[in-house]
Amino acid sequence: QAKVAGKNCYRFYSRAMDQAVSRRVRIEQDLRGAWERGELTLAYQPIYRVSDKTLLGAEALLRWQHPVHGQVAPSVFIDVAEQSGLIETIGPAVIRAACKDAMRWRHDGADELFVSVNISARQLRSGDFREQVMAALADSGLPPHLMHVELTETAVLGDEEQARRILSSLREVGIKVWLDDFGTGFSGLSHLRRVPVDGVKIDRSFIADVLRDPDDLALTTAIIAMAHSLGMTVVAEGVEKEGQCDLLRTRGCDLAQGYWLGHPMNMRDFTALVG
Ligand code: C2E
Ligand code: MG
Ligand code: MG
Ligand code: MG
Repeated sequence: QAKVAGKNCYRFYSRAMDQAVSRRVRIEQDLRGAWERGELTLAYQPIYRVSDKTLLGAEALLRWQHPVHGQVAPSVFIDVAEQSGLIETIGPAVIRAACKDAMRWRHDGADELFVSVNISARQLRSGDFREQVMAALADSGLPPHLMHVELTETAVLGDEEQARRILSSLREVGIKVWLDDFGTGFSGLSHLRRVPVDGVKIDRSFIADVLRDPDDLALTTAIIAMAHSLGMTVVAEGVEKEGQCDLLRTRGCDLAQGYWLGHPMNMRDFTALVG
């Protein structure tokens, strides 16, 4: 009996694994060269100052238009890019394109808009990350203070000393470092002690119920107070309702992004928004 169950379990497990592996392999194959073929583009989601709803910048978000499957979500392909190492070519291309686009907004008269780029763990630790960023700034002419990088807590986990060194060297030239999806990791507080950041982005899971759930409100309020006491900027993610934005204003939250304020949009639409 046990043997049968074990056998079935084994067969089920391995079949599921085969499927997961082949799916992953297929995504990886398709993703190879996707940037060069023009299938990967950047969408920009506006980021506003909460107090007066002034547009201050945008987060760059990768979009993949697969020739057969259509739009593929970053949650599906970023992971594959990270584990296959493809992120080491896509990542630098994203940084260069984001800097170039931000310079374009400057030429269009929006002088001081920043661009915020998501950086994965592997990218951060690829030997020449700092050089990639510096080269992108030099080639585009974008002032360093208009370049922001966003990292999740898991991206700085592991060799924290190495992460600290790399991030400090970016901050020395004026680049801003934000901790993304803040509050979802296990040790947010201890990271803030060891890894130097300019701000935290409160994960949207806190914002989603902030109007109804007293615990989420308490946590959001506490994160804002704590970040401010450490001299950090606070960004709220996932603001989908006016009420959430009003509440965040009363709690002193600095910046916000979300569908109520603006969806991620293509470069042309964002340029029209700033122009
Ligand atoms: P993230 O950095 O936390 O980005 C915010 C995500 O929330 C984006 O999803 C955005 O479209 C979505 N979002 C924005 N406002 C709202 C809202 O009001 N409600 C809801 N429900 N969602 C909202 P997206 O574009 O699917 O990206 C998912 C994740 O993929 C990002 O999370 C980021 O971790 C990763 N990612 C995206 N682009 C890049 C990239 O260029 N490099 C790396 N390494 N990661 C990237
Ligand atoms: Mg982000
Ligand atoms: Mg986030
Ligand atoms: Mg997220």
